[in-house]
Amino acid sequence: MATEDDPFCNAEIVNSESVYTNRRFFVLYNIRPTVPGHVLLIPKRHVEHITELDSEEMRYMHAALKAVIPVLLKEYDADDSSYNLIIQAGKYSGMSIRHLHMHIIPRNKTDRYQKRNNALYTDIERSRKGLGKTHVKEQIARLKNVFAKRGSTR
Ligand SMILES: [Zn+2]
Repeated sequence: MATEDDPFCNAEIVNSESVYTNRRFFVLYNIRPTVPGHVLLIPKRHVEHITELDSEEMRYMHAALKAVIPVLLKEYDADDSSYNLIIQAGKYSGMSIRHLHMHIIPRNKTDRYQKRNNALYTDIERSRKGLGKTHVKEQIARLKNVFAKRGSTR
């Protein structure tokens, strides 16, 4: 449900601050950008999870990505076409505004995260080691089984 303090359902903000729109999505510049060019791709319909988007919205999201990413890469001098796409979902992910938004973050070799070399990736590596190879193998088998039962694998 949309809340009163949800800026992504606020028509005034959306109409005045969108940097790109199509029928189903709009793009806002992040009010606290991590690096120059950090924007948010947001569905016009209030949903919290990407899995709630319908197939038409997915098509428009794809169209928006194809339209927006090359522009950001050029405008913000991304090196080697570098960028991050990040979606946070649920309160334990770091999601702040509970209206789906995808961070699009152009990257270059001189940006402020290069020296810290992406704490995110370090943490991903660490937790995988922490849980061990057995855990990883078990989860692969488990999830293969789950998806096979649902008939959603090849
Ligand atoms: Zn909303």
